[in-house]
Amino acid sequence: MASRLSKDTYDVVVIGNSALGMGTAYQLRKRDPNLSIAIVGPSHRTGAATMAAGAMINVWAEMALGQFDNPALADRAELTIKAMDLWDGHCSELSEFSEQPLSIKWGTYIVNNVMGSPHEMKAVDYIMDIMRQRGVPHEVLGPNAVPWIKPEQKGQAIRIVRVPDGRIDPRLVLKAYERFFAARNVDVFDDTAEKLEVGLKLPFVGAEKRITLGSGTVLKTKTVVLASGSFSQALIDQVPDLRREVPRLVWGAGSGLDISMPAWIHRYGGLDRSVFDVDAVVRTVDRGGACGVHLVPYGNGEFYLGASSGVWFEPEPKPRVHAVHVLLRGLVEEINSAFFFAIMSTRGPGFRPVSMDTFPLLGQSHMPGIWFANGTKRDGFTCSPYLCREIASEILGGPSSLPKRFQPSRKLISYKTAKEAIEDYVAADFGGEIQHGLNLPPYALDTYRSAKRAKVQKIYEMRNIQNFGIHPELPHLYENDEFFAACNHPREFD
Ligand SMILES: Cc1cc2nc3c(=O)[nH]c(=O)nc-3n(C[C@H](O)[C@H](O)[C@H](O)COP(=O)(O)OP(=O)(O)OC[C@H]3O[C@@H](n4cnc5c(N)ncnc54)[C@H](O)[C@@H]3O)c2cc1C
Repeated sequence: MASRLSKDTYDVVVIGNSALGMGTAYQLRKRDPNLSIAIVGPSHRTGAATMAAGAMINVWAEMALGQFDNPALADRAELTIKAMDLWDGHCSELSEFSEQPLSIKWGTYIVNNVMGSPHEMKAVDYIMDIMRQRGVPHEVLGPNAVPWIKPEQKGQAIRIVRVPDGRIDPRLVLKAYERFFAARNVDVFDDTAEKLEVGLKLPFVGAEKRITLGSGTVLKTKTVVLASGSFSQALIDQVPDLRREVPRLVWGAGSGLDISMPAWIHRYGGLDRSVFDVDAVVRTVDRGGACGVHLVPYGNGEFYLGASSGVWFEPEPKPRVHAVHVLLRGLVEEINSAFFFAIMSTRGPGFRPVSMDTFPLLGQSHMPGIWFANGTKRDGFTCSPYLCREIASEILGGPSSLPKRFQPSRKLISYKTAKEAIEDYVAADFGGEIQHGLNLPPYALDTYRSAKRAKVQKIYEMRNIQNFGIHPELPHLYENDEFFAACNHPREFD
């Protein structure tokens, strides 16, 4: 890489100051102490997915039924598996720049209970099969084996499985990156990238990209990394060639809750104190396309409860009532009824960067020097050490083991086959509706499912899609004409 050309010209400008942006800048600096690097992003990070995450290092509990039967989904899963192995080393490196030592607390309990859909039982069976095949240690426990999993009667556990997934507060990781940048000469602009111009005849060798910030500052570079999550779409839209070739990013809205116990409970006790013993993540698997209810303990009676999920064409600035309602109900009814007296505030919404096929956008686009560290949806924090390492290596001319199929300039990747995608939609929708109170007598189930199937099949027909599988969380973006016009993108087949 060239050395610094002028004050406002950088070898690399990274747009986005959360897990993927800072992670990429960190890996670049680690590899090359002389590279000039700028990071752009507002310090408030409003709407950042990373700030709304708990966060789980979510690997095995995230596997979906049939994940490894489909090559693209299998590749997706391998990203988290590879990243998991890097976290301990990553934390010990970053600890030097953290006020407190960073470490992953490993161990997660997946709960199957009477409030989940039948799909959840099958999903956990599948996860255990995969772990068995791969020799991943896990433990199947009885419903009463973990003393602090104490749901209400109506949320009784059926089975608990302990898997190796872990947790860490992502805000601590971001803070450590910031201190690293201050110590290692990486320029951080507390600002927003508002304008991206490409291919200008600038009077600087190899600096043909110009980024104008909200403050009016202009940065020039040969290499720009779009790592501002769903916010990147506003920049992509300014470069027609990029907009045409890269699947659109939409808004995977999600909120969580910060839960703590009031001071009087700390002082006097007076109720079931088992909530203070929570020492591992406890979660369900995917529910209706959301990442299940999960509780992440931070210690001393502080918790994160997550997370809601909905993929939207436009961001909404506040969490929805039904989303928070489901989380709170899950906490008390399914995890520990003593949370009845807890106090809470909302975290988020953050916007999971979701591409129009829900697969990530990783590496260099077809336009030289425009890179993506994006589209990671709901496990990008987990994946970040691996993705950022590989992207940084490639930017510097080295190898990358990232699957080529996730390169940003591409056709939409099919989610399984259309038939399978439709059935997954029906199952996911049912799981979601149960969380919102659906309770059907057994004889009405088939009618319900048929109606849902017919509804989604109509969307496929309307858009003349026969074989391509639309991800179960996205059919509504195909249904609405305005959304469809903006989001439609060539598919690998129709
Ligand atoms: C509620 C919730 C819970 C989640 N839980 C988990 C979990 O437990 N484990 C896990 O692995 N993942 C989880 N995820 C997913 C994970 O958070 C994301 O995949 C990942 O954090 C994405 O990181 P990012 O850096 O790409 O995007 P973001 O975190 O969205 O960061 C984008 C950054 O760009 C900045 N930005 C915005 N506009 C501009 C601009 N114009 N110029 C410059 N910068 C800009 C923002 O301020 C922000 O800092 C969760 C997500 C949500 C929403």
